[in-house]
Amino acid sequence: MPNNPTAAAAAASDLRIRLHHKEGRPGHHSHPHSRGGAPEKTHQRATREIKVVRRVLDANDIMADQNRKLFSEKKVFVLNMMSSPGSGKTTTLIKTLGKLMTGLRCAVIVGDICSTYDADQLSVTGAPVVQINTDEFGGDCHLAAHVVARALSDIDLDEIDLLVVENVGNLVCPAEFDMGEDARVVVLSVAEGEDKPIKYPLMFRQCDAALLNKVDLLPYLDYDKDLAVSNIRQIHPEMPIFSVSAKTGEGFDPWLEWLKGRIKVKLG
Ligand code: MG
Ligand code: ZN
Repeated sequence: MPNNPTAAAAAASDLRIRLHHKEGRPGHHSHPHSRGGAPEKTHQRATREIKVVRRVLDANDIMADQNRKLFSEKKVFVLNMMSSPGSGKTTTLIKTLGKLMTGLRCAVIVGDICSTYDADQLSVTGAPVVQINTDEFGGDCHLAAHVVARALSDIDLDEIDLLVVENVGNLVCPAEFDMGEDARVVVLSVAEGEDKPIKYPLMFRQCDAALLNKVDLLPYLDYDKDLAVSNIRQIHPEMPIFSVSAKTGEGFDPWLEWLKGRIKVKLG
């Protein structure tokens, strides 16, 4: 691996994009970092893919450490928000910023494969918003550290206290990529079923808190909230779980207190 971390990240990223092109089945998103992906034809290919995955993740960790150092120097707390598509991340974030921006200077980086829908919605908060379209980086279904580093050139870190990164909607690989953040939260809507923590354990293991969103829908659903909570606890016993409705604002105070507490520990 090259000594220069940026070069290492670029090389790994390039390798990954080439791999997508070379080995991606037509119409399918080849996914060298995931444990699933295209079936292996030979043992040799499997070994090569594992090496590439290792290189991509190593390079990502180097970039993530650089980001973390910069965030510390600039005294910025960084929150990585993850979830499946449609869980209500953006609405939850709009509500959260509405309550926090009275005391904290906030900015948002939002990741999607395509479109500026979320950035347009988030602009109502008045916070600076940078939309990343991963299409330009090979169409990745997650944000990686070098992609976030690039977006930082559009944000004045001296002018903010909190940077929220809204990840690409996906419960799988975003959990594998450190971006240098201080805290990770997963948003899980009650419309998604109780089984998701068991099916996507890495996400729930990696996150520091879970938001159980859309609880205003509970009267209309056959949803066993106790089971959902116990499934989360099975994966991550100590994880704080906040039941919220981004629509009605129900349950936001404990979540905001938790987040403010975490920010205070870093920024004082
Ligand atoms: Mg969104
Ligand atoms: Zn991905």
